[in-house]
Amino acid sequence: MRRTRRQNVTYAALLAGAFLLALALSLWFGQTIDNNAYDRMLRAHPPHWTPESAILAIDERTYTAFHTNLRSAITDGLARIAAAKPKAVIVDVILAAQVPEVDDALERAFSKTPNLVLASLLLDGRNWEWPLERFRRHAVAVGHVHAEPDDQDQVTRSISLEKTTDRVRSWALSLEGLRVSRGVQIVPQEPAGDIQVGGTTIPARSRILRISFAAQPPIPRVSIQALKDHPESSSVFTGKTVFVGDTSLNSVDRKMTPLGDLPGVEIHAQAFETLAHASFLVDAPRWMDVVFAALLVIAAGFAFAYVPGWQANVIAAVILLTGSIMPYVFFTHNLVFSFITPFSAAWLSVVIAAAYEHLVVRRALRRAEAERVRYQQSLHFVTHEMRTPLTAIQGSSELITRYANMPEEKRKQMALLINSESKRLARMIEMFLNVERLSAGQMELKKESFEVGDLMTTCVDRVRPLAERKNIRIHMDPPQHECLAGDRELMEYAFYNLLTNAVKYSPQQTEVTAGATRQNGHIRISVQDQGIGMDQKEVRKIFQKFYRTKKAEESGEVGTGIGLSIVEQIVTQHGGTIEVKSRPGEGSCFTLVLPAPSGG
Ligand code: ADP
Repeated sequence: MRRTRRQNVTYAALLAGAFLLALALSLWFGQTIDNNAYDRMLRAHPPHWTPESAILAIDERTYTAFHTNLRSAITDGLARIAAAKPKAVIVDVILAAQVPEVDDALERAFSKTPNLVLASLLLDGRNWEWPLERFRRHAVAVGHVHAEPDDQDQVTRSISLEKTTDRVRSWALSLEGLRVSRGVQIVPQEPAGDIQVGGTTIPARSRILRISFAAQPPIPRVSIQALKDHPESSSVFTGKTVFVGDTSLNSVDRKMTPLGDLPGVEIHAQAFETLAHASFLVDAPRWMDVVFAALLVIAAGFAFAYVPGWQANVIAAVILLTGSIMPYVFFTHNLVFSFITPFSAAWLSVVIAAAYEHLVVRRALRRAEAERVRYQQSLHFVTHEMRTPLTAIQGSSELITRYANMPEEKRKQMALLINSESKRLARMIEMFLNVERLSAGQMELKKESFEVGDLMTTCVDRVRPLAERKNIRIHMDPPQHECLAGDRELMEYAFYNLLTNAVKYSPQQTEVTAGATRQNGHIRISVQDQGIGMDQKEVRKIFQKFYRTKKAEESGEVGTGIGLSIVEQIVTQHGGTIEVKSRPGEGSCFTLVLPAPSGG
């Protein structure tokens, strides 16, 4: 469908609005919804790997068995797994303070543990809690234990790979674990580039690592107390990178993750697996979200503007589907996209484009329908109104040709009749075209001043022969020097129509009275008859096109039911109204109420 320039601009503006709204939504609620979507996607599409790590757990039973003495428990645990020859042992416990009675034993255990990694903690972003030197010297590395909980929902999805203060840089515990277990170096690209660890390149420009949490298969976990009970279970740790840490439920070192509440040591182990299997989830840059959303909006706009019918709906469905599932598809390719931005852009633009199109199409259909009806009515009007003069012309001309010796007087009379009727026909055509243009809004009403009395006399004279045939007397009381401003020809049509109706719908031997008065700044031109009349229900309908009362149909008078609708149109265009008083069997009174010209 062709659209106007204005429609195109409105349409484009609405779609731009949809796009901006989508961006605003993603700013307001984006993070919450995107986080939620991210967690679901992570659970729906977990990484698949065979764990390279295992957890030596300090659980509730271990605490009880060792009288809540963490260091004794670790000492015992390390001794029990030594024979299994783990690749590396990472102790996720801060050992910054002295506990004199047990530290000697722990130090001895550390000294016998190859590839030991200890933990550090940065307090207030400035001060480090470092392992006691006596422990530190047995370790090949020290790694920090910081996770990066989301600042909105406090769920831990990432860890920071690096923590740096003025003098000290500490890599993450998991990253040190990887280095030590692989026996390689950590080679960062400075400043803030990717990090190379052996053959693995970690995309870590922001130094933040998204953890690819995997619930299945679980990272093997054996508690120190369980090892005591079942020493053979130490084989679990053979060749593994062992994370030692607190897993008890009342530990302070627990965090919410996409997999639920997990102990810190498990989070480090999951981060280690992420690094070890190079399962990196990379955040798409923000501009990609915005461009993708913009493409969806543009596609929706074009689909509804240029693709016809059902195909547009099919494309819309594809757009909705694309906006809804592409973030997941990207996710399966390790690219983390905003979910809310394309999703809301797709839905908002499709809904708005569809609604607008629907509105435009419906409006165009309504207009076409009105046009068709109007055209049909015009045809009816033409055939109805033109029949009378045509019949007269036809009849007279036939008579002239058939009777060669017709008296001169009669011939002249007929020629005059033909002349006047054809003039009337011409006037009618002119008027018909005017009414057409008037209702199409293409014509400016003529604004001429004319005498009301004059107009009334002309019309009454024209209707008189019709009335005489039915022995109906027409009384007329034309006003003196009352003027109206407007289109005289159209007003003539209106008044003439009321007169012919009055004659048509009255029995023989009755009277029709036409008069005009001035009242409250209005000229009231009325036509009163003693005819068949109408009830109130019928009066309400007579201005509808093609409506005729039952009595009118039965009266035998020819009619189409259009005349009054045109009269109403003409009067309305002149700023006037029509009043009708009528009672069945008692006659009707039609009054045209027209604004009198000021000063007249
Ligand atoms: P038409 O006269 O060609 O049927 P109009 O639009 O002029 O069409 O009138 C519509 C209908 O209104 C008529 O068919 C008739 O039923 C009713 N009507 C109009 N004028 C009168 C009247 N003076 N007396 C009774 N009925 C009338």
